[in-house]
Amino acid sequence: MSNYNWCHNPDCHKISTQSRVRGSGDNKVLRTVKIKVYQPETPHIYDFFCNNNCLFQFLDKFATEIANTYSVKQPSETPIKVKKEKYESYRHEYNGTDYKRVPYMATRTILESNNE
Ligand SMILES: [Zn+2]
Repeated sequence: MSNYNWCHNPDCHKISTQSRVRGSGDNKVLRTVKIKVYQPETPHIYDFFCNNNCLFQFLDKFATEIANTYSVKQPSETPIKVKKEKYESYRHEYNGTDYKRVPYMATRTILESNNE
């Protein structure tokens, strides 16, 4: 059984591409793109939009409505531990003719989340 969606960009049918042309003779139209949904049990954004252009036209047009529907009134926080770790690294020194590998102790910052 096949599932399809029509592209949800309300202006999809106004974009002039040969793939959108339907009809015959003098009755040709540009039609909204039909999208085949391969795995309806795991929805994907491109089940609803035929491409990035249509997705972002939709997001731009309805940005305020989307932000109001899924509003964020305060920041969220994820507890983490910040660790500093020393490790041996190398830099290359040029002595006029060639490069020499010179070891040094470098420091890296590691962010560990608590939900591992
Ligand atoms: Zn589209």
